[in-house]
This record gives sequence, C-alpha cells and structure tokens, in this order.
Amino acid sequence: MPQPIALVTGASRGIGRAIALELARNGFDVAANDISQGADLQKLVQDIDAMGQNALALPFDVTDLGTHGPALARIEETLGQLSTLVNNAGVGVMERGDPLDVSEASFDRCMAVNAKAQFFLCQAVARRFLAQPNDQEHPRCIVNVTSSNATAVAVPRSEYCASKAAAAMASKCFAARLGHAGIAVYDVQPGLIETPMTAPVIGSYKARAEDGLCLFPWVGQPEDVATVVVSLATGRLPYTTGHVISVDGGMLVPRF
Ligand code: NAP
Repeated sequence: MPQPIALVTGASRGIGRAIALELARNGFDVAANDISQGADLQKLVQDIDAMGQNALALPFDVTDLGTHGPALARIEETLGQLSTLVNNAGVGVMERGDPLDVSEASFDRCMAVNAKAQFFLCQAVARRFLAQPNDQEHPRCIVNVTSSNATAVAVPRSEYCASKAAAAMASKCFAARLGHAGIAVYDVQPGLIETPMTAPVIGSYKARAEDGLCLFPWVGQPEDVATVVVSLATGRLPYTTGHVISVDGGMLVPRF
C-alpha cells in the first residue's frame, strides 16, 4: 500500500517541524513547506529521510496564492496523491499594543498569513480531494492550526485574534462543504506552546500557567500539538469533523 502523504506549512521550526516529524514517524511521506529554502528546512528533510520516509522541501510563501496550484502539482508528481493538509504557517503581531493603535500593515499581515492563505490552501486542496475517486486508501483530512485566541481575547494582540477567529470559522465552513465526501476538517487550537514564536514571552507564559491560567500548570511543547494532529490525520478520532480540538492544558475551560 502506498504511504499516506501530508503537506505541512511553516514546517521549518516550532509546531510545524514537530508535526512533520511526528507524521513521518507514523509512516507519512511529507512535503515540508516554509517561506524560504533555509538550512532549517533542509535539516528537516534530512531528518525525515533518515527515518526512512520520503520528504520534499517545498519552499513557497503561502500568501502568494498563485503558488498553491504548482506546489500541489509538484507533490503529486514527486510523492503521490495528498491525503493530509496541515495548515500551520502563522505569524504573530508586528508589535503588541492597544487595539486603538494597531497598524494596517500588521492587521494585513496577520490576515494574509493566518486567515487568507489558510482559506485558499484549504480551497485548493479541497478541489483536488473532490476530483479524486472516493476510494482512497488513507483517510483524507485538513487540519488547520489556529489558536486559543480564535476564542479568547488577548487585547495587545487583537489583529492576531481576529485573524485566528476568521480561520476557525473557515475550518467549519470547509468541514460542512466536505463532509459528504467523508473528508474531515479540524481546527486545532494550541494554547501556550514553547516555540520560537513565543520565545520573547515564554517566561511570563510559564509564570501565568503556574499561577492557574491553565489547568495543567505548565506550558505545552510542539510535540504535544504534533501528537494530537497525527491522531487526527491517522483517523484515530473516527466519525469526527468540524470541531475545535484545544491543545491548551485546559486553559479555556470556563471557571468561576
Ligand atoms: P513559529 O515558531 O513562528 O513558526 C512558524 C513558521 O511559519 C515559521 O517557520 C515561519 O517561517 C513560517 N511562516 C510564516 N509565514 C509564512 C508564509 N507566509 N509562508 C510559509 N511559511 C511561513 O510559530 P509556532 O509557534 O510554531 O506556531 C505555529 C502555528 O501555531 C501558527 O499558526 C501559530 O499562530 C499557531 N499557534 C502557536 C501558539 C504558540 O504558543 N506557539 C499558540 C497558538 C497558535 P519564517 O520564520 O521563516 O517566517
């Protein structure tokens, strides 16, 4: 049987890298995307090769919608038919601050990467999935990595919150559109995860987790998110779609 094939965006580092490695550990061939063909992307491809899986470095800017079709065609030519899209690439705000002071540039950047690119990559993959015969050997799914901030307000990062809320709704829309074909779409919402993105604030995140912000008094690791994503991609949550999967140590459990 051919190996299942996944595309992971923003895979050079952090959560994306952990997801790519965990997919490979579970028998996936992986197309690893990042915005540039840097040393980190090369290293990831080597690490996946060393695990005995095929890996393809696929640098492109997810906000350049014209690159989506050629990138998906390259995966099909090189690895085979895609079974899983993990829309992970994301950016934070340019500067934390008052919503009254958010710049148009930071708003547009958050929306372009976190919401618009994610939406249109879902669309491009969904069209290909639906054009394929409905007799795939591997479960087909789309996993959108959004954020707890799709739900929970962070006032100094309002444009990020707005972009993640848009992406969360898009996940539900695609789940509703693709359900008839048995294609699952999930919205994975990480909470406080220790990655390069959160490095500047990780000290305060750890203190807040210990102080009770999360039910587990610690921050998460990229591997926690990766394990959850691979459980979804391998169909270990059968008969589920369209739902939010929070990987946040219980941060958003309502309390009083
Ligand atoms: P990260 O360490 O900053 O990694 C994000 C990756 O995405 C980087 O390799 C980045 O490449 C890449 N990327 C950015 N813009 C891109 C573009 N236009 N095209 C292709 N790749 C692009 O972030 P992370 O913490 O692992 O976060 C991964 C995802 O989880 C993001 O969507 C983030 O919003 C979400 N998330 C993270 C946390 C957390 O606590 N860490 C919490 C909730 C949600 P460059 O660096 O080269 O630009």
